[in-house]
Amino acid sequence: MRVHVADHPLIAHKLTYLRDKRTDTPTFRRLADELVTLLAYEATREVRVTPFDIETPVGPTRGIHLATPKPLVVPILRAGLGMLDGMMRMLPTAEVGFVGMVRNEQTLEAHTYANRLPDDLANRQCYVLDPMLATGGTLAAAVHYLVDRGADDITAITLLSAPEGIKLLEDKVKDVKPPITLVTGAVDERLNEQGYIVPGLGDAGDRLYGVV
Ligand code: URA
Repeated sequence: MRVHVADHPLIAHKLTYLRDKRTDTPTFRRLADELVTLLAYEATREVRVTPFDIETPVGPTRGIHLATPKPLVVPILRAGLGMLDGMMRMLPTAEVGFVGMVRNEQTLEAHTYANRLPDDLANRQCYVLDPMLATGGTLAAAVHYLVDRGADDITAITLLSAPEGIKLLEDKVKDVKPPITLVTGAVDERLNEQGYIVPGLGDAGDRLYGVV
């Protein structure tokens, strides 16, 4: 698994305000959206493209557009939805599939409760959105879910990651054939006993959707 930690002052600046418990829900949502747009720039470095010819007002030239099949963007419900608009702004012609996963707060195991994905993901590049890579169970399950349906290149984008989650994800995907990449805004210190990232930002879903 390739891990790319964004090292950029704008990302660190926006993450600081995202972490701050005084940040209200509308500002949190806007910052998450802006952060995804910045991370998407890095995450789409290897997006597949096809050359085609155009005419500028001055003369002919060759450009590129996204290759077919189009990439699939997969937000993991619920918190991944807060990253969808920012990603689609960068990849407006991508398709969107949904996976609903919830973790059991006692066992911290991920459980799939809904999915709306094309049946056949052959030759698809997939971008999985989940703000927090905590234990890693949810993302590992999502990656396997997509690989089982034929996805052949998967990039997970997270705002924050815990070292424990990165390690578990690496272990769980080490035998999968397609290339797996993680692009994250920062790697924090650790997980606490409740499975929250420290220092983290608390519950991303609650902060995005105003649940207290
Ligand atoms: N999910 C969250 O929303 N926050 C964490 O810190 C860990 C998992």
